[in-house]
Amino acid sequence: MAEAKRIAVLGAGPMGLSCAYDLVRQGHRVTVYEADDRIGGMSASFDFGGLEIERYYHFICATDHALFRLLEELGLSHALKWADTRMGFYYRGRLYEWGRPDRLLLFPHLSLIAKLRYALHVFYAKGIKDWRKLDKLEATAWLRRWVGVEAYEVLWRSLFELKFFEHARSLSAAWIGTRIQRVARSRKSIFQERLGTLDGGSETLLKAIEARILAGGGTIRLKSRVQEVVVEDGRAAGVRVSGAVERHDAFISTVPLPYVTRLVPALPEDERRRVAAIDNIAVACVILKLRRAVSPYFWMNITDPEILIPGVIEYSNLHPYRDAHILYAPYYMPKTHPNYRRPDEELIAEVKGYLRRINPDFSEGWVLAAKVSRYEFAQTICTPGFYDALPPMRSALPGFFMADTSYYYPEDRSIAESVAVGRRLAELVGT
Ligand SMILES: Cc1cc2nc3c(=O)[nH]c(=O)nc-3n(C[C@H](O)[C@H](O)[C@H](O)COP(=O)(O)OP(=O)(O)OC[C@H]3O[C@@H](n4cnc5c(N)ncnc54)[C@H](O)[C@@H]3O)c2cc1C
Repeated sequence: MAEAKRIAVLGAGPMGLSCAYDLVRQGHRVTVYEADDRIGGMSASFDFGGLEIERYYHFICATDHALFRLLEELGLSHALKWADTRMGFYYRGRLYEWGRPDRLLLFPHLSLIAKLRYALHVFYAKGIKDWRKLDKLEATAWLRRWVGVEAYEVLWRSLFELKFFEHARSLSAAWIGTRIQRVARSRKSIFQERLGTLDGGSETLLKAIEARILAGGGTIRLKSRVQEVVVEDGRAAGVRVSGAVERHDAFISTVPLPYVTRLVPALPEDERRRVAAIDNIAVACVILKLRRAVSPYFWMNITDPEILIPGVIEYSNLHPYRDAHILYAPYYMPKTHPNYRRPDEELIAEVKGYLRRINPDFSEGWVLAAKVSRYEFAQTICTPGFYDALPPMRSALPGFFMADTSYYYPEDRSIAESVAVGRRLAELVGT
């Protein structure tokens, strides 16, 4: 075993916790610093009128191998539950069943050739192994080339524009390709999508990792925002928390990368420039607790001139709760978008209006509770050539290591990827 070090981990999301768990097992003295009043970051939960609900929707796919391995180690494989799910597509005033070849054939707004090109592209993306070939291509151009302008306009355009706005044409084809692949591979059959959740939600996993860290002698400090990584004699030497400096031998940041330039004033110039160039999409996610389901679909994509969100997620159609139905309606946008500053009540009222359009039976009386969760760093904007954009995890500043959700690239954000990256960080630093 390597010599025991004092190691500071910044951030107690799934990445920071997985990293700390491995480091404790390697015999290191680990302190996790978390700015929030709870562990979990984006996958944390809150009390929604007596129901523990996640701030954002989380589903698990058949390809989330790093998560399955960790669940097994923690003795939690039994908590993983799979369900057959259905997908919907609300297009110009009508709701269609989606996500199956027969439904695609019946969809009246595309020619047969456009449908075949769309299906062929999903089939192709499902089999891609080498993403480097797509890294430098721009996503919408890649999609248009494969599916044609007709299918792109109907099926893809508004999803890009309502999530990425002015960045819609600045995304890597590799990144969008892995998203298509992840969901395409999570199926029981060509006709049946199959997604997973954990009994008790992501909290089940977070609590189990927390317990292992604490049992191994590690410390998790909540409400402890790191203000600065302090440098002495050219290497990272301490963290400043509530004005006081606490010394460690190594420092691992798992907080969103944009914070790093402020947190680490001594970060070498080349890394500072690369970190500063990486941008994120924010989210304001409306969560409704309802008496009834709006539709039978777990995931509903939306393309409708009157509805300015790309979709809704009826979480209870994947993971049922007793006595209530949970629906998420995410507004994704650059944080400069005026919607990011709109009051919660306005966004909630707007979403209720959208639900009434989708299901005319929907009424105010269905709503038991409502809330909005916001996060500035919900989705990294992975631009073409993103492999070369990321600075190394082992910074040129001795003793300082960093990663965040952008290091999954080309994979999309997921708890499984955070677990994998967290464990890679632990290996890099601890051994
Ligand atoms: C809308 C939405 C939907 C999603 N859907 C899915 C899904 O279906 N399936 C799935 O697997 N994943 C999903 N994800 C992604 C998943 O939640 C994330 O990939 C994962 O939680 C990221 O974990 P992390 O630890 O890497 O980062 P984060 O969760 O961002 O954690 C970073 C932590 O650092 C803390 N921090 C920040 N600054 C400081 C500081 N200065 N000092 C100390 N601490 C600090 C933050 O408070 C936070 O707790 C979704 C995310 C969102 C936003």
